Amino acid sequence: MTIGSSEVLQRAGRLPPVRSGDHFDIVVAGGGASGLMATVSAARQGARVLVVETSGCFGGAGTTSMVAQWLGFYNGETCAVGGLPMEFAERVIARGGSNGFENYVLAEATVRPLHLKRLPFNPEIVKLVADELVLESGASALVHARICGASRDDDRVTGVQIETSGGRLNVGASCFIDATGDAVVARHAGAPLADVEAGRHRMGMSLVFRLSHVDVARFRALSRQEKRAIALEGMATGELFWDVLSVSPVGTSDAICLMSHLDGLDNLDPNDLTRAEFIGRYQVSRIAGFLKRRMPGFAACELAGIASHVGVRESVRLVGDYLLTEQDVVGATPFEDAVALGCGPLDVHEEDGKLRLFMPAQPFEIPARSMTCISVRNLVVTGRAISATREANGAIRHQATAMALGQAAGHLAAHAGAYGWDVRALPHGTVQKSLTAAGALPSRGHLPPATAVS
Ligand SMILES: Cc1cc2nc3c(=O)[nH]c(=O)nc-3n(C[C@H](O)[C@H](O)[C@H](O)COP(=O)(O)OP(=O)(O)OC[C@H]3O[C@@H](n4cnc5c(N)ncnc54)[C@H](O)[C@@H]3O)c2cc1C
Repeated sequence: MTIGSSEVLQRAGRLPPVRSGDHFDIVVAGGGASGLMATVSAARQGARVLVVETSGCFGGAGTTSMVAQWLGFYNGETCAVGGLPMEFAERVIARGGSNGFENYVLAEATVRPLHLKRLPFNPEIVKLVADELVLESGASALVHARICGASRDDDRVTGVQIETSGGRLNVGASCFIDATGDAVVARHAGAPLADVEAGRHRMGMSLVFRLSHVDVARFRALSRQEKRAIALEGMATGELFWDVLSVSPVGTSDAICLMSHLDGLDNLDPNDLTRAEFIGRYQVSRIAGFLKRRMPGFAACELAGIASHVGVRESVRLVGDYLLTEQDVVGATPFEDAVALGCGPLDVHEEDGKLRLFMPAQPFEIPARSMTCISVRNLVVTGRAISATREANGAIRHQATAMALGQAAGHLAAHAGAYGWDVRALPHGTVQKSLTAAGALPSRGHLPPATAVS
């Protein structure tokens, strides 16, 4: 199937209607980076899957919040994420949605820049390829559908309530994957969750925007010192809100800019979230005006788009069977039940506005136990909300890691069928074997020999 082909149209037309009272093997809550991979991988394993997404498209922060660069595929020169996320990336490249992986300096205009590999992409092409993946997989799907409740019987989630344009639906499943980033199903099901400590606040949000008519090459040719000087000038005039001049190119003349910074707001508080969108758009207008006036390469720029959802770095997290820590990340702790590899960087936005940003020395393992919990046996949490300390979360929340976790979640849930839909009862080897067969790299032992031992 290719984008724009009549097969896409036919498969979309044949999507089975979802009705209240329906029962699936697996319901995936959220079709973002992680949920998309979970949906497709579980459906490819033969499970009857429904994905429920609150926005109109798949891809999550990468599309609706325009976070248009994938980090986390590479740790240095080591590629530690394969399988379905790599297939997705390759298909986006093949469709002209990206020129491929490139060396990049993250946070270049700050005092602590970081060299790494990224994959910048056009979020609109990512939406199209994500549609293809979902339609090909045979999964059922609902978009513009928000999960707003969960029913639980003893140690099982039995169903979710979904707000849709046609009213509320109740849908049941044998197993649930929570890929909402905000642990929505886990919260409604009463699973244990961790929040930021009292008196502290969440990492800042950012509202991303797209400028057209930019001479991207001219901007990229500026030295780090020139960029830093202009960034400091913009902050002094109150037109820039932090010193990160993050630009992701789309083609040669569009720039996706991640430069707004919204501190002290909580995305799970509806009033704060509303404030974040208003203040974010105010910041975007200030930043765009400043770039046009002062930044080489931006003189002719036009505001071409503002993300439809402010980007959220941090909310609540599962308290799972294992709490991944910074020590596990930097020391690459080996886990018998490893299901995905993280690459980093570890990227924590401190409350004083400072950035803790560094690349772990090697890829690190993430255990299945950080995606499950003792009190709800048929629930897998994946992506940004897995069980991790704030610091470890700063290293696992990048999209390629979220996607690797998503593929793992799909395999965990699909194979749980043979174990009474108890995701904690699965032998580790079963999931690792199945992931490896699908091209994934669940542990350091699965890396190519030259990179497996450090
Ligand atoms: C400003 C910012 C900059 C970042 N920079 C980078 C970067 O440069 N590179 C990188 O790789 N990562 C970056 N990240 C991190 C990354 O984008 C996210 O951590 C990652 O997308 C997490 O994946 P996820 O699947 O857990 O969540 P998401 O991608 O956010 O997906 C969650 C999905 O769940 C849906 N959802 C939520 N609630 C419900 C509900 N109740 N019902 C149904 N659906 C629901 C959402 O609409 C969304 O589609 C950045 C994040 C932010 C906010």
